[in-house]
Amino acid sequence: MSGFHGATPIAAALNTVRETLARLRSVAELADRYADIVALDSLEDLIHAPVMRKDDMNVALECLKPKASQGATWTFQSGGTTGAPKLGYAPTGLYMAEVYDYWKPLGPDDVFVNGWGAGKLWGAHYLMGAYADLAGCTGIGLGSITRDEYDYWLEFFADRRITSIGGTPSVLRPIFGRARELGVKLPDLRSVLWLGEAWNPGLDEDLPAVAPDARRWGLYGSTETWVVGTNTPRCAADTWHPLPSQLVHIGPDRMLDFTSLKPNGLNPVLRYQTGDAGEWVTCPCGGSDRALRVLGRLDGEVKFRGVLFLNVDLLVREVTGRPGVSQVQLVITEDTIAGSTLEVLVVPTRDAATDLTERVRAHLLATFGGPNTAFHRNPEALVVRRVEELIHNERTGKVATLIQRHRT
Ligand SMILES: [Zn+2]
Repeated sequence: MSGFHGATPIAAALNTVRETLARLRSVAELADRYADIVALDSLEDLIHAPVMRKDDMNVALECLKPKASQGATWTFQSGGTTGAPKLGYAPTGLYMAEVYDYWKPLGPDDVFVNGWGAGKLWGAHYLMGAYADLAGCTGIGLGSITRDEYDYWLEFFADRRITSIGGTPSVLRPIFGRARELGVKLPDLRSVLWLGEAWNPGLDEDLPAVAPDARRWGLYGSTETWVVGTNTPRCAADTWHPLPSQLVHIGPDRMLDFTSLKPNGLNPVLRYQTGDAGEWVTCPCGGSDRALRVLGRLDGEVKFRGVLFLNVDLLVREVTGRPGVSQVQLVITEDTIAGSTLEVLVVPTRDAATDLTERVRAHLLATFGGPNTAFHRNPEALVVRRVEELIHNERTGKVATLIQRHRT
């Protein structure tokens, strides 16, 4: 079985990859890396090409300054949630025609609310705008809204009988949580479109109460690769069907790399590693082809006070499942003198108990505070705090599960 998995006809794919290779070789700082790959007779030969990371892409884009052959060349920014921001490019349409061929959550009768933040170089709002154009639906450009605006907008959604809403899961969660508290019903809502983060299982609790017929429809990708894969309500939330223009490879360390097979793609995406790990699986939807299960970043385990390896995702999931908890975030502050502290920030639900923080803390100590852990020896190192909202990226609304800070 081929190590590189894609569905574009081989001759066209090879042409595109050869062109990308030539562009990368023309970048003085990268020329040496690609000097040895002279012949590319099959896509399997890509195994000899080095993987690219964000810094390599940035060097290449600075030198190549891509321009679309038709229409506008749009500049977007990626990163900024957990790393340094970088610029990337896309032509008018943002390559969404291919997505529309394979993914159909919207049709002409839909009333779609675009809840991704607009502007500030983030692509998601425009990406879904381009998709809405193709679907021919009625669009409502919501952008990002603040908590004190939720009630007004929820009333508006009910009045307009919206059938679809899209946004980053951590932005959608408190909106649906508020709708549930208010008793707002959105009986016409059929689809919840999401991209930018993993699906938030908390939405599975709120949606049945607010919009029982709503189902999730996801897109997976990055600003460099654009959309890599799609999923439908019948797929697992972490499992994606790659588009034909995406050649996907999984390294021995399970790290994913992507090669663009789009003719005239602007970003030179050749064995580009986004930092996500993954594996090939059979999707529960019954699609005959292999599907890509994305495991996220494998750097989910961190050292705390020298002994404890915290599994961040596990801990966040554990707390999110507690009664009265709406959202959770971990903040580790490293202090060389006083020792590190772990703060668990908790956004409560409206009906949360007044002693929520004490309850969460006791649960965490009972679950993770065994005799050999840092919490057992230094109980003051664990702090649970009730907050109105989590620390988030102002631009995209994305919430990192873990924030690490140093105090010297
Ligand atoms: Zn599937």
